[in-house]
Amino acid sequence: MIEKTLVLIKPDGVVRGLCGNIISRFENAGLKIVGMKMLWVSRDMAKEHYKEHVDKPFYVGLEKFITEGPVVGMVIEGNDAIEVVRKIVGPTEPKAAQPGTIRGDFSHISYKFADNKNIAVKNLIHASANQEDAEREISLWFAPEQIHDYENVFEKTL
Ligand code: AMP
Repeated sequence: MIEKTLVLIKPDGVVRGLCGNIISRFENAGLKIVGMKMLWVSRDMAKEHYKEHVDKPFYVGLEKFITEGPVVGMVIEGNDAIEVVRKIVGPTEPKAAQPGTIRGDFSHISYKFADNKNIAVKNLIHASANQEDAEREISLWFAPEQIHDYENVFEKTL
């Protein structure tokens, strides 16, 4: 099934200069970027985006982290894109992420380390977890006219 998913390069990915490397991993897999923007997340936006986490102990650190610098937001489209993007990104805890995934290649921190320091685990990327989250998050981050309908080279030649 062709799906759309929301991907954010979090502030740690932006300040480390990893945007190009991260974006190319999705493009190399044949996924299509249909929306892209850079913005600085407000505290209200953080609460809305992470609304299932606002009452959790790590939320204070998470809001600080996601608002401390600009993020790059993308809508990525492809066959089973929600699952495929999360496979390319790797598991949430960088310590558990395999080499070859974005988190495994560029981060290594554990939940325990982050929790001891009272900070969010810096894991470079957010990627929608499921269809329901993807629809909610895409409409939160992108207006309909900011999402583009075009054929990429794979679609043209398949
Ligand atoms: P998720 O919605 O699962 O991506 O979680 C939101 C974000 O919160 C993660 O991507 C991490 O940056 C952070 N996070 C999740 N769980 C923890 C935790 N136990 N300790 C610190 N940060 C966490």
